[in-house]
Amino acid sequence: MSTPRRDLCVALVGTGDELVEGRHVDTNSSEIARALIDAGFEPRRFTVLGDDEDALVHTLLELAASHGAIIVTGGLGPTLDDVTRHAAARAAGAELVRDEAVLQGLRELFARRGRPFAEANVRQALFPRGADVLPNPNGTAAGFALEIAGARVFALPGPPREMRPMLAEHVLPRLRARVPDLPCIERRAFHLYGIPESALADAAGAWMARDANPLVGVTASGGRLSVSLRAEAPTRAAAIALAEARAAEIRERFGAWLFSEDEPDLARVLGRTLLARGVTVALAESCTGGLAAERLTRVPGISAVLEYGFVTYANRAKTDLLGVDPALFAAHGAVSAPVAAAMARGAAARSGARLAVSITGVAGPGGGTAEKPVGLVWFGISADGVVTTEERRFLDLGRDLVREFAANTAYDLLLRALRGLSEAAPRGAARG
Ligand code: AMP
Ligand code: MG
Repeated sequence: MSTPRRDLCVALVGTGDELVEGRHVDTNSSEIARALIDAGFEPRRFTVLGDDEDALVHTLLELAASHGAIIVTGGLGPTLDDVTRHAAARAAGAELVRDEAVLQGLRELFARRGRPFAEANVRQALFPRGADVLPNPNGTAAGFALEIAGARVFALPGPPREMRPMLAEHVLPRLRARVPDLPCIERRAFHLYGIPESALADAAGAWMARDANPLVGVTASGGRLSVSLRAEAPTRAAAIALAEARAAEIRERFGAWLFSEDEPDLARVLGRTLLARGVTVALAESCTGGLAAERLTRVPGISAVLEYGFVTYANRAKTDLLGVDPALFAAHGAVSAPVAAAMARGAAARSGARLAVSITGVAGPGGGTAEKPVGLVWFGISADGVVTTEERRFLDLGRDLVREFAANTAYDLLLRALRGLSEAAPRGAARG
């Protein structure tokens, strides 16, 4: 990375014994960092401290030397282990003074809740002299902003639901006001399925160089690749132009695998597409045991297109519920193209759905053979009565991930089949 401009550099500090003792994860810093990035700032460092006043004083002074701003979360409660206001005051060389308006507000809040006002709460009305008080409509801990050794320090409450609105309404606007020539950032996201990360890296080439603008990054999860794009320019229009130009190239180069630009969840993309198109679907699952149907049922309103999900684990169930010919098991095994095809055909026939998918595979850890290793999964797809099959050999990364890959692949196959489906249901395929 290039030499940072100090006024853009922000340090994040999480405080709390629960954080350094590993009982609670500092999620605030990550969340704030993402918001800062979107706003054009450069989060440079995360520091996590216990409820230790001396350590916080030291950290604030050290960070102030190289950062334009510091955002601290936690330690604003009423108890003696809440030391942020005291540490900030010491670091700024300011005394703590009581804010009568905040105190009055606290008294009224307690009265409204019908609770006695404990003297400990007076602590929450103390602020370093000269600090800007940041109101907290979601709790008793007001935040504050204060100049410490040339850096703007913001102290925010620890609970994320209190931190979040204060960040958006009070911190980000103040930060922006301090840096008039803030670079404009435009982001895009692309969600791909079915392309390996290495193949993407090869095809993306120099787009992924660390100093490229737009900057392109990739993260993988459950067989899905999410490509993020971040374009930076002095004006919004220039940033949008830069982002759009690269976005168009990404769509052209990776269109065959691109399933969404906003929603990373394949099940949701499939569910919404089925609903928008009014296409009915059924699932016949063996090794995923209903996982694929379960994820699909998380989509609100999905009952309009999903009526049948068969969990057919034993061969007998595949025969009883889907009409699979028992001779196929003997001839090919349950994990095979003919059985996958028969399952999909049966699911479509018994449900009357236009689309059906079947999943039959070896999830492991046991049950694998040289010919049919753990990770082998066969899929059947029935689209308006036309049945096809697909084989996948997933990496054996454990039972949970093999099942996850299988469910995601089933969604991907359904999405692809959906694209090839005509608008109207063909005669005879509609449900009676
Ligand atoms: P505090 O304001 O320090 O009293 O923190 C109150 C609560 O906020 C803690 O018990 C945590 O549940 C939560 N919290 C504090 N700091 C963080 C953090 N950095 N990330 C996520 N949650 C936090
Ligand atoms: Mg705390």
